[in-house]
Amino acid sequence: MRIIAAMRAHWLRLTVLGLLLLSGCRRGPEAHTVRRSREVMGTFAEITAVAPDEAVAEAAVEAAYGRLNRVNDLMSTYRPDSEISRVNQLAPGQSLAISPETFHVLERAQAFAEATGGAFDVTCRPLLLCWREASEAGRLPTPEQLDAARARVGWQKLTLAADGRSASPAVAGVQVDLGAIAKGYALDLATEALREAGAVAGLVNVGGDVRGFGSRADGEPWQIGIRHPFRQALFGRIRLVDRAVATSGIQQRFFEVDGRRYSHIVDPRTGRPAEQAPSVTVVAPDGLTADAWATAFSVLSVEEGRGMAEDLPNVKVLWIWGSAEHPQTAQTPGFSELLVQ
Ligand code: AMP
Ligand code: MG
Repeated sequence: MRIIAAMRAHWLRLTVLGLLLLSGCRRGPEAHTVRRSREVMGTFAEITAVAPDEAVAEAAVEAAYGRLNRVNDLMSTYRPDSEISRVNQLAPGQSLAISPETFHVLERAQAFAEATGGAFDVTCRPLLLCWREASEAGRLPTPEQLDAARARVGWQKLTLAADGRSASPAVAGVQVDLGAIAKGYALDLATEALREAGAVAGLVNVGGDVRGFGSRADGEPWQIGIRHPFRQALFGRIRLVDRAVATSGIQQRFFEVDGRRYSHIVDPRTGRPAEQAPSVTVVAPDGLTADAWATAFSVLSVEEGRGMAEDLPNVKVLWIWGSAEHPQTAQTPGFSELLVQ
């Protein structure tokens, strides 16, 4: 019996090895690639599906776009009827029943806030509005305006119900903005939709944040370029094998007052726009994780971030800061292995 069991285990190992080798082989001409670009979630999205059949690939791309639209419908602050916009209208103690998707993102966001000592905080919207209004008026916010906004910011001021179904503000004027995390989550849902629809590989790019699964139709890994913040050139290219990559840039979107640029990423601990690394790229197993850490590491100093990243074995980070003349970079161990030489 023992010998038979051992032989079975041996065959099983050989079969698994064979399958692994096969899946690593070049896919033949039977693999079809369909790629579509559209504007979604206030940005540009490109979805690629690889499937044995072109119709399957087409349907997979459509299903993936459906998920991006759903995330936007639930979480955009530009839609007055989204769940997040309705949470933002609640009085203290009132609660709103929300979808499992929105709950999941809020719950993960709260965990990131706790892990980063409040550097990442989706309740930062009052500060964002304060800076936006000031820039429209062409002046900096006054200390009083910043204090009033900060009194409404803080992840502990948003309560998520233990039953996993509703959210409630603890004080008046709490305002949530999921701009730092929803795109990444949308990548995850879209990737799931591609798989469910029968794609064998795919790539989802929403505004430069990308998640890939499987490999290209020619069997080669997906490759993604990383922009250099100071040069009209790429910093490099990375291989993206069943991973997601997100880049946050404090200069990518900004408010301008008196000709000076202020980042659209705020440090909720000080109320001021982030001034740390101008470009942070994070590679993680899923989109939500990559997106949230990229924003968090833009708020934290490079030293603080490197300390935190040491405890995150699956998260690889590249920081670029300094100036065009003297660019400086730092990477976590393992990031360079992703770079295409
Ligand atoms: P990202 O491009 O992913 O870095 O997200 C930037 C967006 O996140 C901003 O446009 C704001 O909507 C939001 N945001 C800004 N500062 C923070 C912060 N400290 N924590 C969480 N979200 C933020
Ligand atoms: Mg982000």
